[in-house]
Amino acid sequence: MNPPRSILHLDADAFYASVEQAADSRLRGKAMAVGGETRGVISSASYEARALGVRTAMSTAQAKRICPRLILVPGDFEKYERFSRLMFSYAYDLTPDVEVCSIDEGYLDLSKQGQGHPCDSAIHLAKVIRDNLKITISQGLASNKFCSAVASKLKKPNNFIEVPSGTEREFLAPLPSRWLPGIGKKTESLFVGAGLAFISDVAHMPLKDLERIAGSSASALQSFALGIDLRPVIPASATPKSFGEQETFTSNSQDEFFILAVLRSMTDRLCRRLRDEGLAARTLTLRIRYKDMEDTMRSESIHEPSPHESDFYPMLQLLLRKAWTRPESLRLVGVRLTNLHVALPEPELALTGLPQKSATERLQLAEASDLLRRRYGKKAILRGHDLWLRKKLSGGKSSGDSFSDPGKN
Ligand SMILES: [Mg+2]
Repeated sequence: MNPPRSILHLDADAFYASVEQAADSRLRGKAMAVGGETRGVISSASYEARALGVRTAMSTAQAKRICPRLILVPGDFEKYERFSRLMFSYAYDLTPDVEVCSIDEGYLDLSKQGQGHPCDSAIHLAKVIRDNLKITISQGLASNKFCSAVASKLKKPNNFIEVPSGTEREFLAPLPSRWLPGIGKKTESLFVGAGLAFISDVAHMPLKDLERIAGSSASALQSFALGIDLRPVIPASATPKSFGEQETFTSNSQDEFFILAVLRSMTDRLCRRLRDEGLAARTLTLRIRYKDMEDTMRSESIHEPSPHESDFYPMLQLLLRKAWTRPESLRLVGVRLTNLHVALPEPELALTGLPQKSATERLQLAEASDLLRRRYGKKAILRGHDLWLRKKLSGGKSSGDSFSDPGKN
């Protein structure tokens, strides 16, 4: 039998707000929050603001009502990405086996490291990050990814919990079942109704019965509930996690409408994967390959990270025109989304402003479409460019009859 692994999960506390406090001493110790600009919601609140009831995804109007002294700072996502790179550079000092999951979360596999106990490494890591970056992190150490992630989030901020090998199941048993992967608010109430309020209930239920409630994910869920998770830490070397796709055309193309429709379709799929993992991206990189094999890449970032394809559509045409400067046909195009952040949760309370409402509705619409596609297949919902592409690929007219401007859907 293999010796138990030592997996450390690192999760920065109130990351955006903490970075702002670290960067500006006048904000330290104050009730402050990042957000309010485009969506009218709080992206991250300092612990001083949380103590007064301000929460992530709350509308800024409501936050101001609860806490009139609240200092609002616009998001500076480039600064957060810089801090994130510095933070993970200290993790890489301990081991090359670092999996960066988002801007402020990641796993370290400390099983192989020669020097010292993994607990000492965790304490050291929190200290160097605190001393050098003036932000705090919470960490969980366990024999697998799931338990270490739960341990890091259980008692924030500035905390460290070790789950000794062999105690995973006892550690998880008393926690509400919403701690299991994929159990959101709606699934949680379904679970509670079925007598599965706690992880121990999920662990004990006969698999046949659990399948009736959780479908095909029942067996994976039960493994997690039993404290079993064999997923490896996947080090991404120097490249942080990203989502990308590329496509080689069956025949080289010079048709901008067609190419844009392909790019939009790709962006749709990549954003669906983002949403599946609860992530949002800020930077899109477009790659083209000319028929003579020359490659060109162009990138652009949006101000705030987003999980929605429609936020990336405007930059596709712009980037395509920037990249495609020679009058040559293209052989391949690709899209990659990077600078991944944890997506904002759905707003918690009644909506008070229009920007927040539209953001929520957009997320709900996106989630509903994702669900329909998962249940009824990829073609259950098609956007304008998908229909246009289908028609074109099946030999129909490509003259843009029902799709005169792919930028407008
Ligand atoms: Mg965090």
